[in-house]
Order: sequence, then C-alpha cells, then structure tokens
Amino acid sequence: MKKVYLTIDDSPSKNTDDLTDFLKEKNIPAVFFVRGQSMDPEQGNKEAFQKIVRTIQKGFTVANHSYAHERTSEIGFESQTQQIAKTQNLIDLAYQQAGKEPPPRYFRFPHLDRGCGNAWVIDFETIPEQYRDYVQHLFWDGVRLETKEPPTKEQKDLKIQIQHWLTGNGFIKFPTPDVTLPWWVGTELETAIDCLITFSTSDWMLTPRHLGKWSFKTTAEIQKKIDSDPWLNREDSAHIVLIHDDREDLLTVTENLVNHMLHSNFIFKEA
Ligand SMILES: [Zn+2]
Repeated sequence: MKKVYLTIDDSPSKNTDDLTDFLKEKNIPAVFFVRGQSMDPEQGNKEAFQKIVRTIQKGFTVANHSYAHERTSEIGFESQTQQIAKTQNLIDLAYQQAGKEPPPRYFRFPHLDRGCGNAWVIDFETIPEQYRDYVQHLFWDGVRLETKEPPTKEQKDLKIQIQHWLTGNGFIKFPTPDVTLPWWVGTELETAIDCLITFSTSDWMLTPRHLGKWSFKTTAEIQKKIDSDPWLNREDSAHIVLIHDDREDLLTVTENLVNHMLHSNFIFKEA
C-alpha cells in the first residue's frame, strides 16, 4: 500500500463543510493549513471561523498558513511573523471553542515562499545531483511559479531568520518519520521546521482563474500525473501530498482526486 499524509491548503472556503464531510465519510485524516484572514471574525468572517471550529470537531488537524497569504520574500520578516502569530491566535481560539486541546503547531508558507521566492523553495544545491531535476520540478510545476531569479544574500538570511522564529514560537516539524525518499532524508526538505511536500497535485491549475494557463488542464491529466509519478508510487516511503480547499469551484476536483487515489491503493495516514 502507498501511504499518504494529506495536507490541504487555503481553508476555510465555501466548500470546507462539504470537503470535511466527504473526507470524514471516507475515514480520511487530513491536516488543514488555514489562512487567518479568511477565518477572522473581525474581518467579517464569523461564519468561516465556525467552519474551522467544525473542522476541528470532526477530528481534523488545523494548522497555520499565515494570515493574508502573502509572499515572505516580498513582505519580509516583521510582517510575515506577525501574520503567523495572528493566525495562531485564531487557531488556538478555534480549538478552545471546539473544546479540544490544540495539537502541536505546524506551519506552511503561503506559495511555499520561505523567504527566497517561490522558485527557490529550498536550496536545490543541497539535493543530491541525480535527484535535483526532479525536486526542482516538484516545486516549479507544483506551485505557482512567478520567477526563477536566484535568491539574494538577504533572502537567504531571511529564510534562516524565520526558521529560528518558528522554532522559538513553538512550531515543530511535521512528524513524518516514514518519509524515506533519498532526496528528502537529510536534506533541507526534511530539516525545515515548516511543512514541505513530496508531491503536489497541481489541482489549483484547474480553478477558473488559472484554467488553461498551466500544464495541467483537466482532472484526467492530474490523475495521470498521480499514476505516473515515479516517487509517489513507491511503497517504501510515505508521501506528503498537497491539495487545496480553494475559494473557487474545486470541490469536485478534490473529491475526484482523493477517490482516484483510494482506487489506486493509497492509504491516508494520520500525522
Ligand atoms: Zn496557499
């Protein structure tokens, strides 16, 4: 069996209740990385906040995806860390209202921009050469790529600074001891405090505002990506898969991809 940690970004959305009902019915655990702003009662998002409370009550893990979904390399240390802290307060409040103990703090950067822009998610030089091309394309084809400019010294420092801030503020590495891929173990992917991925469905390419502009244009093409990925289909390692709870009409796509993975002998693991 192929093992997957399902991680869902960008909640809450209009689809969150339906998505969590769907997953719960199938007994699929998942971690929801939420945007603070979208669940902030003070921003008029009282009902959305309750969706996150319900997500917790249904047994899912809720984790931090910062507040306004901005790129760290553009907004810098002060703004991003304030946004992470503000989001964490909202998450803690949601756990309190749900009557549950908050879990360990996990964090994922918006756009996977960890300080060096979203092309340079990690320092690819640290990846053994024979896997480097694959890992670059995992990110370049998997998250929305804006630029391939190499990071500056300041950006590299910013990345390290935020890692330290996360550690100092109680965030811990997402526990995935059974991810044993040779380009993961011992590299920056594994040592990062924030939660990275081993596979992106690229499902966001099917939202109305992106459709037709990127390499994957139909659900069938994404299914093929899942079926043909040489690493995702290995049974000797678990995988961290990225999918979205978008504010657009992605629910059918998400359900379809999860069903496809179930039929392809993937099992979904609790973190
Ligand atoms: Zn996101």
